Amino acid sequence: MKLKVNDKLKEQLDEVAEIAGYLWQKGWAERNAGNISINISDIIGDENKDLPSLSTYGLPGEMKELSGDFFFVTGTGKRMRDVAKDPLKNGAIIRISSDGNSYDVIAEENIKPTSELASHFSILSSFKKKGSKNRLVLHTHPTDLIALSHIKELKNEDALNNLLWSMHPETFIVVPRGIGLVPYEVPGTVAIADLTLPVLEKHDIVIWEKHGAFAIGENLTDTFDLIDTLSKSAQIYAFAKTCGYHPEGLTKEQINGLIKPFNIKI
Ligand SMILES: [Zn+2]
Repeated sequence: MKLKVNDKLKEQLDEVAEIAGYLWQKGWAERNAGNISINISDIIGDENKDLPSLSTYGLPGEMKELSGDFFFVTGTGKRMRDVAKDPLKNGAIIRISSDGNSYDVIAEENIKPTSELASHFSILSSFKKKGSKNRLVLHTHPTDLIALSHIKELKNEDALNNLLWSMHPETFIVVPRGIGLVPYEVPGTVAIADLTLPVLEKHDIVIWEKHGAFAIGENLTDTFDLIDTLSKSAQIYAFAKTCGYHPEGLTKEQINGLIKPFNIKI
């Protein structure tokens, strides 16, 4: 039995390829950096649900909410620039077991999922439990945002968001909930997921201190846009600083003046 790629699944895989290409072009995905997990249970198609297991792995804890779900996940050690060329050769389609304790790789090749799967799934399962529509996570290494997370004065959410919102009106329009800050933790651990979860109550994107961005959403392109928009603000700030100036920034009044015309809900 082989995977049958229906129209909706093809559309999703094409979007993965497109976004993976952007991550590489942006310089946010050196070597095998970054990863993507998407719940594809609604689009996998009944014809693919019983594909035989190519390998089975345990989950770090019981994830009942995800039992029987299907995901596309980028492969461990795989490069985004290769995911962009062929998502199914550089990622896996997996099926979570009915007890939520393990998962099977079912297509298209026997590729081991990202080492950050534990953190992805623990976050996605918690969102599903709450009835949230968020079904995907995107992790990448945006140079400019990571640089800001190294700056002592910006290690609080108010200071960081006020700076980013003040650099461009679009940033507040696109990311009105701002970016959350998660203190440094070892990558790929459940500990980093435990630190990230409460911060995601108030934000759709967080910066893992000195490491990278982690964003959640319903749609991969929109999720990428969150990171890209914040990155633009960080670049404007860095550009002015590089020229030897401190950027003036939008005033609080100018930022608040966006709420009404753009119907922003915080
Ligand atoms: Zn990373």
